[in-house]
Amino acid sequence: MQYGYQCEDCEVAIFPTTTRGELAWLRDRVHVVREMLKHTTTGLDQWMMDGFEFLDDHAGHSIVLVSRRT
Ligand SMILES: [Zn+2]
Repeated sequence: MQYGYQCEDCEVAIFPTTTRGELAWLRDRVHVVREMLKHTTTGLDQWMMDGFEFLDDHAGHSIVLVSRRT
């Protein structure tokens, strides 16, 4: 099973390579990750970068956690 975010407003989804728990964590802490990005020199894990970008692009939209069979 793969987990990802779906924007209900735009009807697009992404499936970063990580767990459901990590995605839920990131969704609730976008502001924390934004701060981390300002201070990191090495960048963050790829799933976190991808997830953050999606959440940032769809700020204010309705984002849900979704799953799909692999
Ligand atoms: Zn959207």
